Amino acid sequence: MKKLTFSQLTFNENNTPVSEQFDDIYFSTQDGLAESYYVFQEGNQLWERWLSHERESFVIAETGFGTGLNFMAVTDKFQQFRAENSTHKLQRLYFLSFEKYPLTSAQLSQIHESYPQFTTLSANLTACWKPRQVGCQRYHFGEIYLDIWFGDIQESLSQWGDLYDEAVDAWFLDGFSPDKNSEMWNERLYQQMFRTTRLNGTFATFTASSNVRRGLQAVGFEVKKRKGFGKKREMLWGTKNTEVESQSQQFPYFYQQNAEHCQDIAIVGGGVASFFLALSLIEKGKKITLYCKDDQVARNASGNLQGAIYPQLSDDDDRNVRFYVHAFDYALQRLNGLKQAVDFEHALTGVALYAYDEKQVKKLTKMAEIMQDDSLFQLCSAEELSEKLGVSVPNSGAFIQEGGWLSPVQLVQNGFALLEKMGLSIVLNHEVCAPQWENRKWHWQHSGETFSHEVLVLANGHSFNEFVQAQGIPLYPVRGQVSQVPTTEKLSPLRCVICYDGYLTPRSSKGLHCIGASHIRDNATTEFSLVEHQENLAKLQQNVTACDWVQGLDLSGNLAKVGIRAAFRDRIPMVGAVPNFEAQKAQYANLYNLLRRKQAVEKAENFTNLYMINGLASRGLTSAPLLGELLASLIVDEPVPISEDIWQALNPNRTWMRKLLKGSRV
Ligand code: SAM
Repeated sequence: MKKLTFSQLTFNENNTPVSEQFDDIYFSTQDGLAESYYVFQEGNQLWERWLSHERESFVIAETGFGTGLNFMAVTDKFQQFRAENSTHKLQRLYFLSFEKYPLTSAQLSQIHESYPQFTTLSANLTACWKPRQVGCQRYHFGEIYLDIWFGDIQESLSQWGDLYDEAVDAWFLDGFSPDKNSEMWNERLYQQMFRTTRLNGTFATFTASSNVRRGLQAVGFEVKKRKGFGKKREMLWGTKNTEVESQSQQFPYFYQQNAEHCQDIAIVGGGVASFFLALSLIEKGKKITLYCKDDQVARNASGNLQGAIYPQLSDDDDRNVRFYVHAFDYALQRLNGLKQAVDFEHALTGVALYAYDEKQVKKLTKMAEIMQDDSLFQLCSAEELSEKLGVSVPNSGAFIQEGGWLSPVQLVQNGFALLEKMGLSIVLNHEVCAPQWENRKWHWQHSGETFSHEVLVLANGHSFNEFVQAQGIPLYPVRGQVSQVPTTEKLSPLRCVICYDGYLTPRSSKGLHCIGASHIRDNATTEFSLVEHQENLAKLQQNVTACDWVQGLDLSGNLAKVGIRAAFRDRIPMVGAVPNFEAQKAQYANLYNLLRRKQAVEKAENFTNLYMINGLASRGLTSAPLLGELLASLIVDEPVPISEDIWQALNPNRTWMRKLLKGSRV
């Protein structure tokens, strides 16, 4: 995981923040806020354009988040716009900003003290601000979405994949003065700006540099000058007046279409993935109907009493680690937001990874080298680990201090009840079978009635394989039985989840601990198994040896929950448009040679308006919030908060595409 470098911040004699890395001020010494309104908002004619905007969202991109002053100023203006125009079509603002050298949360708070009008916004921002790794971090402020792309802008822009073509309405071209930051102001930046700017989109910048003007003109922007802010004579602004001729896709074989103009979306499945997807779509103004084959939601694996939340860290797959770390941070933010409105038992008191043998010691040491981040993952001696756990262990391990456990069944059931109040319709005891696409809708029959929706999302775990459209997707079921055991005097002090070749949770308010879980691949049976029940306990006692607190546990009540999880071999979920396997096989039989000869490649064929979210395995609590937001963003055609390489790794056609790209047959 690439470590971030923080800003070396100082203040000049006027108390204006200065970057030592660039030897430049963050904003005008005269009046940073007035400069922000004048240069960036007026320069892009935001208010007038919002009034005549015909889409539901407006996208601003900024080169350099810095202190967040531009963000706070534009958020304030957009909130005013919404208050004065509550029925306007434009409802959401996306503010996408890049930051190579982030400030810390404390530094942001300190600078924001000079702007008491933004106190609440600043508090909300600094509470969730977590520069941890290169890549995107999405933060929610009601109708305003802030995506910070940590890392160098050049690298981040190259991770804005094809979905970002013509996505931006206005650029705030900030990023220190061109002579102090010549590495940033270059042709590659201007080219990427042009690619990602919508027709008639604009940019504005404080500088009047002739190099910048020529650079922007060279890639196709029409560049104009106006009076600069304060003592500055001139500044630049401009427009993209010409469309890029037949913008070619960089990765046509990973293409996924959106369903932008659709309002009516059906989701199949009543688990944690459906819940977070429905939440994200409802926030984006869509009408959602949920179909669940059971008599209650959260009946399957999301129905567990306790589930651990922490990123799945691997010692051999950097891309998966980056995904799970992004997902984890996003999940914490989402759960924090939900806590106010949804009642679910939780305790984010940490997750211990126990080195129960030599192999684990090596694995955890390697993970620490990959992570390079003590705030997320810390190696611990046996004494340190015992102290954190509240019970003593003889071996060392690692600790994820922000992790913990929560009650999935309460989160999902009470969460859905909240969404119902926000307009979600839930249809229970309804199994969606054999959906067919006709007259721009998906239709199916149930109890003699026809049901139809514009968009259909399959989020139904292992039952996904029952749809003909799931052909080619190598999803497999994994039976998992979790045992519940009454606490004992010795076990009761356990404060954190402990993971070994299984896991044990601290006691819930009901005085029960969960010991998980069996893992039986290609098995979707749901009956209680005494053997698995006993194996769960045996694994705990074999892995966590020489500890009196793992002894004397009473499993005789046979309390257990069986859930069927759905997984893929490459340990990362799948999300996106459902690919048409047969069509793609025919399209790309010769893909390897087409690419080698640099010949044209068609866009991948997917089923129209059919999407999936699946393979969350035993990490759904961590991954579902981000996956739901990703899929919702794709469907409504709004910015996706994920790097292109991770997006490709999540792509539903990835398994056969890997083979086709190597020239193998599928
Ligand atoms: N818009 C900011 C505000 O409201 O406070 C001020 C931006 S400050 C002038 C420029 C910011 O751009 C700095 O935070 C700097 O770290 C960032 N930056 C400079 N070069 C960068 C690069 N190559 N990639 C990403 N961020 C960069």
